[in-house]
Amino acid sequence: HDHGDHDHDHAHAGMFHSHEHAGDREGMELLIKALQGKGGRGANVTLLGALSNVGLTIGKGAAGWALNSASLVADAGHSLGDLLGDFVVLATWTWSRKAPTADYPYGYGKYESLGTVLISILLVGGAYFLGQHSLILTMAALEPYMQAATAPAVADVLEPLAQSAKAVIEADPEALALDPNAAWFALISLGVKEWMYRLTKKVADEEKSTVLAANAYHHRFDAWTSGVALFAILGTWAGVPVADPLGGLLVSGAIGWQGCKWLIRGASDLMDAGVPAPDRDALARLLTPLPAALGTPTAELLRIRNVRAVKSGSQLFVDLTADVPPGMTMREAHEVERCIRETLTHARKEVKEVRVHLH
Ligand SMILES: [Zn+2]
Ligand SMILES: [Zn+2]
Ligand SMILES: [Zn+2]
Repeated sequence: HDHGDHDHDHAHAGMFHSHEHAGDREGMELLIKALQGKGGRGANVTLLGALSNVGLTIGKGAAGWALNSASLVADAGHSLGDLLGDFVVLATWTWSRKAPTADYPYGYGKYESLGTVLISILLVGGAYFLGQHSLILTMAALEPYMQAATAPAVADVLEPLAQSAKAVIEADPEALALDPNAAWFALISLGVKEWMYRLTKKVADEEKSTVLAANAYHHRFDAWTSGVALFAILGTWAGVPVADPLGGLLVSGAIGWQGCKWLIRGASDLMDAGVPAPDRDALARLLTPLPAALGTPTAELLRIRNVRAVKSGSQLFVDLTADVPPGMTMREAHEVERCIRETLTHARKEVKEVRVHLH
């Protein structure tokens, strides 16, 4: 028989809310509600955040390219990465929620993990190329000091690279010179992101949403990377040529870091990594004491152990061992099993399946 048709519309308590991965997905639920035009303020502020990333990616990317700012291009790359992250969840939203089939008995939740891995590879690759671009410009700017500042062996390796980078720049210095007007775009990005932080934080505080709070802090982090770009552009404008490419290098590092984080997360999802111990303990706590099953005294359930939980997209598959008295009848034991399953699926909307081993 089927235990999977409960209606889980009701709110669920805080366990996974502090958990970054589930948080992302709940942020996405808000985004989708807003797109369907039926979200509250939390949904609307999330949508506004995603839309601001669209505008900032295009604006900073075009300006950074046209005005020759390595740090602004890298900052645009960061905004693009944020956008792609939202895109994966949106794109796999329907697919990963398809009902299980005979071919895929655990459902299609791993589509999302696979998408995360693919996007993370894109991010790491993007960070590599942006970083390389910035590194070459950095070395070209530092070339005059290279002999004095580094050990001869290091200088011997770097010098030819720096020379060739310098040659490229000196061939057409006008076309490659940084236009300080790039600073305006970094300033606008900083302002928009700081404003998004305050707006989102306000809604998060009023609605006591940790998901929105996490979104808010991401906006603050984005404001910081735009601040790095702004500082770098102004530095080059003020006569420190290395500032802008160095800023680009820093922001590229931030993109690479984000990409690595997603890669590890997506890959461990694909590897069926279990949820952390505190989450498993929280699941076990829901069952102690077990709400009295029909005709089965709670005391008959002696112990819950071996709790395991594996994520598949937004779904959680749980299995555990329940110790029951050896003399318990089959009917009673089945009631205990049903009660365990319903307690978990009602308490946590992400719990898709519960397998109980009676011992
Ligand atoms: Zn970001
Ligand atoms: Zn059953
Ligand atoms: Zn057993």
